[in-house]
Amino acid sequence: MIVAISLREMWLRLAERDGYFNCGFATAAEKTIGDKMAKCCANENDRDPSCGSAHATEDPRGWFGNMIQNCHQYASAAKAAGRPIVCIMCEYTPRELILAAGGVPVCLCGGSAKTIPAAEEHLPANLCPLIKSTFGYHVLKNNPFLEMADLIVAETTCDGKKKMFELMAESRPMHVLELPQKADDDDARQRWMAELKKFRVFLENRFDVEITDERIREAIALMNRERALRRELAALMKSDRPPLCGRQLLEFKSVISGIPADLRQYERALQQLRQKQPDTDVSSRVRVLMTGVPLVHGAERVLEIIEDSGGLVVCMENCTGLKPLLEDVDLYVSDPLRALADKYYRLPCSVMTRNDRRLDVLRGMAEDYRPQCVIDLIWQACLTYDVESHRIRQLAQQELGLPYLRIETDYSPSDSARIATRVEALFETVLAAAPAAAPPSL
Ligand code: SF4
Ligand code: SF4
Repeated sequence: MIVAISLREMWLRLAERDGYFNCGFATAAEKTIGDKMAKCCANENDRDPSCGSAHATEDPRGWFGNMIQNCHQYASAAKAAGRPIVCIMCEYTPRELILAAGGVPVCLCGGSAKTIPAAEEHLPANLCPLIKSTFGYHVLKNNPFLEMADLIVAETTCDGKKKMFELMAESRPMHVLELPQKADDDDARQRWMAELKKFRVFLENRFDVEITDERIREAIALMNRERALRRELAALMKSDRPPLCGRQLLEFKSVISGIPADLRQYERALQQLRQKQPDTDVSSRVRVLMTGVPLVHGAERVLEIIEDSGGLVVCMENCTGLKPLLEDVDLYVSDPLRALADKYYRLPCSVMTRNDRRLDVLRGMAEDYRPQCVIDLIWQACLTYDVESHRIRQLAQQELGLPYLRIETDYSPSDSARIATRVEALFETVLAAAPAAAPPSL
C-alpha cells in the first residue's frame, strides 16, 4: 500500500513539476514505473496492486481529474502493444479512421502558457495562443504524446495552424488533410470525400493494415457511444438547477478518444449526477451560453472567471463543448466513409464560409438551455472567430434578445481582473433586466 501511494504521488509530482502535458519520464527509474503502470492499466483483469494508478473503479471526477496521466498510461501501453499513436489538432479529423487503422487518436492542442515563449522564438508573437502553445511543446519536446507520435495529421483549417504545421513537419512525420471550406457546396463535399479516401489509403500503407468497412463501422459505433454519453452529460445543464457547473462539466473529457475505461466513467458520472441534489445557490446564478474558440486542457481560465463572478455556464457551443458532439455518424448507410465525410463536413467552424450552421446551432442551444446572455471567447489573433463575432453579436442581441459580451484574450492571466470586471458588468445588466423572483408559495 505504501508503495502504491508513493508511486502515485510520483506521477502527480511529475505532472505538477512539468505542467499538464509534460509528465514524461526523466530517469530510468521513472521509466520503469511508467512501464509497470502501462502494463497494469492496460489489463483490467489482472491488476498489479503496486501500480498506484487511478483505475476505472474510481469516482468519475477523480478519474477525469487524472485524465492526462490516464491517457499517458493508455498510450504507453498501446504503443508497447504495437498500436501507432496518431496526433490530431482539429475536430474535422475523423478519429474513426485512425481507430479503424488500429491507431490511438490523441488531441495535440496545447493549453499551457509556459510553452509559448519557446514557440515565439520561431513563430510571430501575434498568433493564436493555441497554436503557439502546441508548437512550444514541439520545440521543447516536452509533450509525451507528441514525442511518442507515429504520425501527426495536419488539418488545413486556419492559416496559422497550416503554416505552423509546415515547420513541425521538418522533423515530425505528418500527413496533410486538406479541408475544403465552402460549407454547402457539393464539389467541396466531393473534394472532402476524396481527401478522406486518400487518408484511408495513407493510413493503410503507413501502418500496413487493411481498413475494412467493418472496422470503420466498429469505430463509428464506439465514437457514437462516446458522443452520446458526453451529449447526455451536457444535457444535464438544461435543468433549472443543474447538478454541476460548467467547469465541472468540462472535466468530463479526454485527449484520447475511444478509451473503454473513459466510457464506463461517463456512464457512471451520468448515473451519479442524475441522482445528485443540485447546490442551493445554482438557480440564482446567471445562465451563460459560451461560444467561440475551444477551451483546451489547461486553458479554462475565462470559464473559471465567469463562474467565479456569479455565472453558470450552462452550454458550451465550442469544439471542447457540444459542437463536435451534436451529430452522430450514420451507421446504417452502405458506405461508412461517406457517412464519416458527411458528419464531419457539417461541423460549424468559423473556418467555413458561409458558416450559417453555427447560427442555427446557437438558436437551438438558446432554446434548449435557456441562457440569459452569450459570451463569445476569441483567442487573440484568431481571425475567423473574431470576424464571425459580428454575426454572433447580431444573432444574440437582435434575434435572441440576449446580452452579448465578446472577450478577446490569450493564455496569460494578466487581463483576468479586467475580464472579471466586464463579466460582472454583463451580469448586472442581465439581473437588472430579469423579472423579480416570485415570492415563495404559502
Ligand atoms: S475550432 Fe475549428 S479549427 Fe479549431 S478544432 Fe474546432 S473545428 Fe478545428
Ligand atoms: S482558435 Fe482560431 S486561430 Fe487558433 S487554431 Fe483555432 S481556428 Fe486557428
